[in-house]
Amino acid sequence: MQNMIDSGYASIRRKRVVVIGGGFAGLNFVKHLDARRFDVVVIDRNNYHCFPPLFYQVASAGLDPASICFPLRRELRKRGSRNIQFHMGEVKNIDCSHRIVRTKTEEVGYDILIICAGTTNNFFNMPQLEKSVYTLKSTSQALRCRNDILDILEQASLEQDMERQKKMLNFVVIGGGPTGVEIAGAIGEMKRYVLPREYPSIPQENMTITIVEGNTRLLGTMSEKSSEVAYRDLKSLMVDIELGATMHDYTDNVVTLADGRKIDCSHLIWTAGVIGENIAVTGTGGKDISEELIGRGGRWKVDGLCRVKGVDGVYAIGDISIMEDVDENFPNGHPQLAQVAIQEGKLVARNLMELEKAEECAARKENYTPRLKEFKYNDKGSMATIGRNRAVVDMKNMHLSGFMAWLAWMFVHLMSLLGMRNKITALINWIWAYFNYSTSLRLLIHPCRYPLRRRWMD
Ligand SMILES: Cc1cc2nc3c(=O)[nH]c(=O)nc-3n(C[C@H](O)[C@H](O)[C@H](O)COP(=O)(O)OP(=O)(O)OC[C@H]3O[C@@H](n4cnc5c(N)ncnc54)[C@H](O)[C@@H]3O)c2cc1C
Repeated sequence: MQNMIDSGYASIRRKRVVVIGGGFAGLNFVKHLDARRFDVVVIDRNNYHCFPPLFYQVASAGLDPASICFPLRRELRKRGSRNIQFHMGEVKNIDCSHRIVRTKTEEVGYDILIICAGTTNNFFNMPQLEKSVYTLKSTSQALRCRNDILDILEQASLEQDMERQKKMLNFVVIGGGPTGVEIAGAIGEMKRYVLPREYPSIPQENMTITIVEGNTRLLGTMSEKSSEVAYRDLKSLMVDIELGATMHDYTDNVVTLADGRKIDCSHLIWTAGVIGENIAVTGTGGKDISEELIGRGGRWKVDGLCRVKGVDGVYAIGDISIMEDVDENFPNGHPQLAQVAIQEGKLVARNLMELEKAEECAARKENYTPRLKEFKYNDKGSMATIGRNRAVVDMKNMHLSGFMAWLAWMFVHLMSLLGMRNKITALINWIWAYFNYSTSLRLLIHPCRYPLRRRWMD
């Protein structure tokens, strides 16, 4: 019988599980769910899964976007179940009272909803920045950054007036966390190794890269040793570092710091903050209930089982969720990292299968108490890379830096990429770049303007 699970003596209807977001959390949830027992619909605004830790490599022309993205349909088909569907669309609204999610093109009903839409850029109280700064929260944003860097290098190489050339090439990175350090390091490598070889008309001193961090050290979430190494390595890549400094304003190509100092800046790369993706949520009578459900940083408040507090059948996992006062090591919520998203995805899939098993047993008039597990984060450590062959790695009782850390970083990232083709192309690009300081990816392919397609601009 269609849409039913045969539990032996009685049949129960397969529940429809709707998953918003095919990122780390969403994919790992689906991977660990027994799809014979559920109807699963994965909705994502893109038709591919992407790997954010390597966005900075796309932005600095180290990797092509296809190496860090993987088609969601293909990944879901690999699960080998007809019960899993993919719908491309951006969820705009969740109606909790009718159990419906809405995209621009459809309404999808759910029995169980898994929200794992991740985060977007947070410009704090400077919304005007959205239109003037570069960001690295999606493949398209990383590509835009890459194209504009390549474009300005081409333009600057034709500029005869050295003062004007200088003004074209001052890059400021706001935020000294792993993403800020990685992108500053990658642009630093361009300055140190690529400019002299490929743009001889641009003297190195005409390009400046400054990283601005509010904390008194870089990589504030990592060990002090890692911060010191990152500082030293960035300096060797000719990156200027402003610590204990916050950005107050960015207008007319000038960054103003809170203490009044000004830095010329033709390209500002913003890595300073994230906020949960904004999805409207309504309850009975269409009432907006977002204030009840969504907490600090735009993150949905969940209990130890990742259930959204105050609403039935809805779970939130990954970056978009916050679990406070559950895990003794993380009373203020877990860090927004891939491992947290992956582990939460696995846990919720496992718990849902336990609950389903209990229902099936009940249908057979058997007793079964579901063994539900609370989330406990297993911290496997953190790492960041600074340029072509340097990195820092912090694990439980171990710190690595330099070439060994870079090898460890490369191994972990290669293993985490989806698809053998992606692993191989990324490895070839890295080995190639390691030996000859060059990639063939610095191609500036402008998108064609016509025909206009409105739906891609919305
Ligand atoms: C530049 C960068 C570097 C990072 N580096 C590291 C690192 O080195 N190590 C580490 O552990 N973590 C790193 N992170 C964090 C890590 O990427 C996140 O913790 C992880 O991606 C969270 O997984 P997620 O599934 O919650 O969200 P995501 O992976 O962001 O996935 C969210 C998915 O939801 C989709 N989506 C969003 N809104 C909607 C909507 N309204 N409707 C439909 N679909 C939607 C998106 O398209 C996306 O596919 C980095 C993040 C960034 C941005």
